[in-house]
Amino acid sequence: MATNRTFTMIKPDAVNAGNSGAITKMIEEAGFRIVAMKKTQLSPERAGQFYAIHKERPFYKDLCTYMSSGPIVPMILEKENAVEDFRKLIGATDPQKAAPGTIRNLFAKSIEANAIHGSDSDANAEIEGNFFFSHMEQF
Ligand code: UDP
Ligand code: MG
Repeated sequence: MATNRTFTMIKPDAVNAGNSGAITKMIEEAGFRIVAMKKTQLSPERAGQFYAIHKERPFYKDLCTYMSSGPIVPMILEKENAVEDFRKLIGATDPQKAAPGTIRNLFAKSIEANAIHGSDSDANAEIEGNFFFSHMEQF
C-alpha cells in the first residue's frame, strides 16, 4: 500500500545558490505539506551512510564529498501518492534529461549537483526521514 509521505533534501548547490526558498515554494504549491524541516550539514561519513546503497558506484566518493560540502535542507513531506508525485516534481537525475518546469530542470547544476533528493519508495522514505528527524520533530 502506498503511504502518503516522502523524504527530500535540498542539496548544497541549491542552498548555496540561495534557491532553497524558491524550491520550498514550488514544493508547497504542488500540494505537499511540510511535516518536518531543518537546515543542517552532513559529515562525509554521514553522507556515506545516507548513500550506502550506492557504495559500489563510481560516483560514490565524489557524491559523499559534494553532499558534505555545505548546508542542506532535509524535509519530510505529506501528500496523497507522495513518493511518485514528488519524483515527477523533481524530474530526472540528470538535469539535461529533466522535463521542463521540474525542480532539477530549473535549478540543478549537473548530474551530481542536481539541487534536490527525492525518495524512490515508501520504505526508503521512512528510512531516510528517520535518518534526519525524530518523531518529536514531525508536525
Ligand atoms: N549521481 C552522480 N552521478 C551519477 C548518478 C548519480 O553524481 O551518474 C548522484 C546524484 O546527486 C544523484 C545521487 O547520486 O541524485 C543518487 O543517485 P540516484 O541514481 O539514486 O539518483 P536520484 O534518485 O537522486 O534521482
Ligand atoms: Mg535515488
